[in-house]
Amino acid sequence: MSQWESTRAGRHLAGRKAKNTAPEVALRRAIHAAGGRFRLHRRIQTGCTPDFVLPRGRLAVFVDGCFWHGCPAHGRTTPWTGPNAALWEQKMQRNAERDMRSTRLAIEAGWHVTRVWECAIRENPAGVAEALLYLRTRVAFEEPDTPRLHQLNLDPREPRATATAGPASADR
Ligand SMILES: [Zn+2]
Repeated sequence: MSQWESTRAGRHLAGRKAKNTAPEVALRRAIHAAGGRFRLHRRIQTGCTPDFVLPRGRLAVFVDGCFWHGCPAHGRTTPWTGPNAALWEQKMQRNAERDMRSTRLAIEAGWHVTRVWECAIRENPAGVAEALLYLRTRVAFEEPDTPRLHQLNLDPREPRATATAGPASADR
């Protein structure tokens, strides 16, 4: 089995995903300030513990770190280099698979799911909180029995073309 070689770049990244990261805390504060109720780290299914859930609307929320989860703006876009390149590649691949799996498990358990990039929270925690609460209310009323993955509309006050004509338009 191959081993990680110690590198300067790698050392501080070796840890597992931390709970209660700064963006998570900022988002929770903003949700609380907006009157939203949530529950932290609730295991809703074996192998599936969202960062928090909004019980009303049965909405499970995962906060994804830009680096580990490969955000389009801040994730790595060039191939890995250096002695641990293959291991990094595998690790990121496993992260992506784990994300898809946890999303699927949550949906199978009857939860709506949304995944939020850490950078979106850093930019505007109140806006993300508002979008989440809007989504929660909408699914509670409109689709309580059809759990699925949702893209977060980060500007809920701007009504965009509502997707009455089939699946979400390719606007994101
Ligand atoms: Zn990002």
